[in-house]
Amino acid sequence: MDCGLCNKKPAKVELKYLGKTICNSCFIRITKRRISKNIRVNKLVEKGDKIAVAVSGGKDSVLTLRVLAERCKKLEVPLVALYVDRGDEFAKKCGNIAEKVAKALGVKFYNLSFKKELGVSMADIIKITGKIGANRCSVCGVFRRRVLDRKARELGCNKLATGHNLTDEAQSALMNFVKGELKNFSHFGAISPKSGFVRRIKPLREVPEEEARKYVELKKWDHIPLPCPCRIGSLRFNFMSYLEDIKQVRPGAEFAICKIGDELAKVSEKKLNGAAKKCTKCGELTSREVCRVCEYLTFK
Ligand SMILES: [Zn+2]
Ligand SMILES: [Zn+2]
Repeated sequence: MDCGLCNKKPAKVELKYLGKTICNSCFIRITKRRISKNIRVNKLVEKGDKIAVAVSGGKDSVLTLRVLAERCKKLEVPLVALYVDRGDEFAKKCGNIAEKVAKALGVKFYNLSFKKELGVSMADIIKITGKIGANRCSVCGVFRRRVLDRKARELGCNKLATGHNLTDEAQSALMNFVKGELKNFSHFGAISPKSGFVRRIKPLREVPEEEARKYVELKKWDHIPLPCPCRIGSLRFNFMSYLEDIKQVRPGAEFAICKIGDELAKVSEKKLNGAAKKCTKCGELTSREVCRVCEYLTFK
């Protein structure tokens, strides 16, 4: 069968939501175009920006870093890479890959650790997880976001890029629906509102997970092919499989869910306008009296 777009090369990649199977070169071309369009339309990278990108060594962050390195070079926008080391063996391997990729692109690499930045070890995370009855990933995620935010700010960056793809976003939206928390939509979308110190940007926001993987594999880019081992049993892990079921019935579901999520993000922004408070313990922005980081640290 020939490619459903160029009609020349052999069809290799099935895009169910388009009802087409296309060749590898068309796949690379349209994916690249989709990412560029997201960056342009949502103004993710602009002249005068200084951008930090969170790298984990996984496929999404490697793709994000490479896309941004190219884009930022063109616009003469400074770019730095931030890696957060949790302090275990898996993290060490990921850090090495992340550093290698960043250095090859000429992007300054910062190796941050929970230990240095927050005084927290992996043993502490396990202890906290047990006491609050949460999954390790949720505790880890709260700490990681804090370390990244703070470092980006320290370095004078106005934006922090993450590797979130369309599938991650659709999962987040589903989780937010089920929790019934409108305020959770405030970090939804390709770019977060101006209210925070550092805006979050998601260059891969329009790319489904399997396509990000395919892209990195076709390009033969160095990355850690395994997801974090802690994620099994997390709430997100369950939603991952629900979303897969939904996609069987409606292949375009991720796009549709995110579209509704974007509308809710606007409502959330309007409703919460200026509602962010400062944590009474550490002074960081939070929607609560005491932020999650400070709350978790008391269980150490
Ligand atoms: Zn083609
Ligand atoms: Zn705090």
